[in-house]
Amino acid sequence: MFFRDIIGQEKIKDHLRQTVEKDRIPHAQLFSGPAGTGKLPMALAYAQYINCENRQDGDACGVCPSCKKFQSLAYADLHFIFPTFNLPKTKTKGSDNFLPQWREKIQENPYFDQIQWALFIDPKGTKQLTIFKDDSDKIIHQLNFKSYENGYKIIILWLPEKLNLTAANKLLKVIEEPYPKTLFLLITESVDKVLPTIISRTQLIKFPKLPASDIEAFLRKKYPELTESQINNFAHIAGGNLVEAEKLAQTDTAETNSLLEDFVQFMRLCYRFNFDELLSFTDKLSGTGKEYLKNFFLFATRMLRENFLMNIQLQNLNSLSKAERDFSEKFSSFITPENTKGILNEMNLAFFHIERNGNVKLILFDLALKTGKLLRKK
Ligand SMILES: [Zn+2]
Repeated sequence: MFFRDIIGQEKIKDHLRQTVEKDRIPHAQLFSGPAGTGKLPMALAYAQYINCENRQDGDACGVCPSCKKFQSLAYADLHFIFPTFNLPKTKTKGSDNFLPQWREKIQENPYFDQIQWALFIDPKGTKQLTIFKDDSDKIIHQLNFKSYENGYKIIILWLPEKLNLTAANKLLKVIEEPYPKTLFLLITESVDKVLPTIISRTQLIKFPKLPASDIEAFLRKKYPELTESQINNFAHIAGGNLVEAEKLAQTDTAETNSLLEDFVQFMRLCYRFNFDELLSFTDKLSGTGKEYLKNFFLFATRMLRENFLMNIQLQNLNSLSKAERDFSEKFSSFITPENTKGILNEMNLAFFHIERNGNVKLILFDLALKTGKLLRKK
């Protein structure tokens, strides 16, 4: 992980770089702030930076042996403690039993929250996650061992608020007195739930919520299929939390993709009018449920309006996603001043009947016949 991979938080990056340059790395630091502000990725980037053999331009080099190991999370002196649950038939409890999943989660996307982690290791969501006494024992054991590598030993403890009391007390003792070339990075989402004795032994670094502009820039890059208005919307709803913004983007993308596919298919079949194909498609669509059909009609109405605007060369480029634009380039030539009003009327009428519990299959099939006629009339 590099500093440059982290969204925003430039002041914190500068501060952390300074600790390295001035050779004043506090031996225990507490990264505190709401979820989705980049605390875990920052800890990973900091750890890699500290141990990089050839730091350049304020970031790790990415090619030295230490960087290589960090990038695959295989650096032997990098240790992780995080909340888990008790697995039957294991000798000890705690993080070590879940290391493969932990590495997988970070490699996939280091921005995740407690709920996502819990569901990743316990999809049914029934387990209470804790940091166990065995986790603290493991740390104490590692501290007394000599280093495997030349650099710093780094212990990243995710969510100290989940330490059980025995584990917390054990850990306190080792945080109290610095070990040579050893760094504790604690990451909390609820500093008020961390033992005050732990807080008082660490240097606190507060992570502010991300500004909407940072989240927008991130969404724009990672989710090119989103429209500007979606990006703007999600960034504001997310309230400075990148993880929330991604959740919105992902859910919405899945549904939008399927709406677009269904719309494209529906229009093609209306136009071509193959009785059997159309029947099996309207059959399928009628089984998707009222909520989905409502969105389908809203989506179809929006697409028809936008295509009409494209047809008369008045379109607003930002209002369609890339996939929608690609389809509309050809499709818009079929949505003309002659038939647009008629198609929209038929759509409204069909939806009106569905809402009043008409026979959905019949309504959709009838709509397809009328739409097909109007499309071919263009
Ligand atoms: Zn390096």
